[in-house]
Parts: sequence; structure tokens; C-alpha cells
Amino acid sequence: MTTTTSQMTELLKLIDELPSVDERIERLEYLLTADADAVNVMIWALKTQLHPSTDVTPSAPYIPPAGTYLVGGAHFTLKVSKSSKVTYVVSHNGFYQGALTHPKNASLYTELDTAAKAHAAVVAYAKVTGKCGVCHTKLTDPKSIAAGIGPVCAKKYGM
Ligand SMILES: [Zn+2]
Repeated sequence: MTTTTSQMTELLKLIDELPSVDERIERLEYLLTADADAVNVMIWALKTQLHPSTDVTPSAPYIPPAGTYLVGGAHFTLKVSKSSKVTYVVSHNGFYQGALTHPKNASLYTELDTAAKAHAAVVAYAKVTGKCGVCHTKLTDPKSIAAGIGPVCAKKYGM
């Protein structure tokens, strides 16, 4: 997939609306290295931030549900802000690392950007801790232990 001129025009307009110059520069710098998927995610994230009332569902990228995921040997918790509905990253030591779709979390997000990848990462966490990665309940049913996820939370991944 390649980025079209109209996507680029839309993105530059959105970046121009950002109130802080630093934020604009940060997005433009990230664009220099961004591929087409990253451009789509950035358009979606900026629309959500700047125009929360617009319906951006059709082009919305996959966002994994709240829960704890093992990625690259470290676990990260995703939390959804009640007010903005933005999904935030919290590191294993409790530090907020900003929105999942923020450019600085790009490498983490690429490990979780499909339901299959997110499911694998939540199962990896469960195998290490014995707890469901989504709701943190201790897994006791042998089937759930083997699957690495409880039946209710498995539904969140459409399984
Ligand atoms: Zn669960």
C-alpha cells in the first residue's frame, strides 16, 4: 500500500492544526521515516485528537483492548482513557508512555497492530504469570491455562 497525495494533504492539514510547534515538528520528523501504514495511523490518531466528534471508524486502525501484553521480553499495560477514549501505554514499572498511536510508541504498536499479534502477546504474558492478560484473573481452568486467556476475554479478540 502506498500513500496517496490526498492522504498526504489531509495529514499535513491535520498537523497544521496542532496547537504546539514542538508537536508539529515531532510529527513532521516522524513522517520522514513513516511508511503508508504509519501515515494512516497518524491521520487516524490526529483526527481522534483534533476532531473527536468526526466518525473516523472506517479508516480506524486496529487498537488492541486494554490489558497487559508481553512484547520483546517486557510487559506493557494498555489503558483506555475514560474521557478521550485514547489507548495509553503504561510500562511495567508504572510509567505512562503516552498514546499507543504516538510516534514514540511506533515500535511497540507494530507488535500489537493486529488482533492476532495482540492475542499472541497477551497469551505470552499469561503463560509467564498464570494470569489472564486482559482482566488479570488467575487462570485456573486447565483449558484457559493452555489457551493463555479466559473465555470471556478471548471474545474480545473475536476468538
Ligand atoms: Zn480475562
